[in-house]
Amino acid sequence: MKRTLSLTLPREVAPVFPDWCIVCGREHPDHRASLFAAEMRRGHSFFSGSYSLQVPCCTGCAFSLHARRIISGWAPLLIVICGLALFVAIEPKTKSAGPIAWFTGAFGIIAFVVWRVAFPPLFSVEPHDTFIVYEFRDVAMAEGFRRVNPRCDAPGSLTSA
Ligand SMILES: [Zn+2]
Repeated sequence: MKRTLSLTLPREVAPVFPDWCIVCGREHPDHRASLFAAEMRRGHSFFSGSYSLQVPCCTGCAFSLHARRIISGWAPLLIVICGLALFVAIEPKTKSAGPIAWFTGAFGIIAFVVWRVAFPPLFSVEPHDTFIVYEFRDVAMAEGFRRVNPRCDAPGSLTSA
């Protein structure tokens, strides 16, 4: 299991990123990737309290960064839809369609959770009411981010999640 490192900044502070690609770490990347992080806690709508930012990123790495974020966001819903589609497809052929579809969906969700824990994203953003959490899988990137953002949490706040 890989560790992730979380750093926080007050919401009103615009983050500064070192001039490294957020995915591969290459210096002076030729691109910036726009990211959107939805605030999904109770009492918030999808857009209320959400947060967007741009991060330095190679053009090629931006594709994998966006693909990973899209897959992570939609995978649970797609697994449920696939389970329902499986049920509809096999229901006329067997009386065990319900349990087969349910266990297939449960296996898919478990496999997704194991994948998320074993391979956390290289970088993620989580908005809260008064602060933003920036999560890094790479220690050097987290340290670089903290170095260029003086209002980041005090030293020692670099914690594993
Ligand atoms: Zn890159």
